[in-house]
Amino acid sequence: MEKTKRIALIAHDNKKPDLLEWATFNRHTLSQHELFATGTTGTILATELGVEITRFRSGPLGGDQQVGAKITEGEIDFVVFFWDPLEPHPHDVDVKALLRIAVVYNIPIACNRASADFLISSPLMCAEYERSVPSALLAQPE
Ligand code: PGA
Repeated sequence: MEKTKRIALIAHDNKKPDLLEWATFNRHTLSQHELFATGTTGTILATELGVEITRFRSGPLGGDQQVGAKITEGEIDFVVFFWDPLEPHPHDVDVKALLRIAVVYNIPIACNRASADFLISSPLMCAEYERSVPSALLAQPE
């Protein structure tokens, strides 16, 4: 992982205010990294924070899967995903798949504000970091 991290930001509807507040507070730090987001989350953050952000599809339309695919391709280093534990979602399976693939690839992932606070204030945010991954993941597919 380079000093500049490629960060994916995602929030379910009930958690969007939380993510917006967190991102506003951490705007300076976030602006030093490359930002990605699912559709609606990305639109809100880009509008409210005025930051450049690459948007995927909305979560229910495949955005979470796109983030997962980017992780497998080595193009996302870090995920902040405020998912809602109190509501069912039509794309619950996609959410689970993303959480799983982040663990498989040993990606730092914060799923609530306290975790996000601890992660973003880590000295590793502005340092290079060697992320260990299972050797099977390093082999190129035939
Ligand atoms: P959204 O998707 O940013 O488009 O709302 C997030 C999600 O529901 O996973």
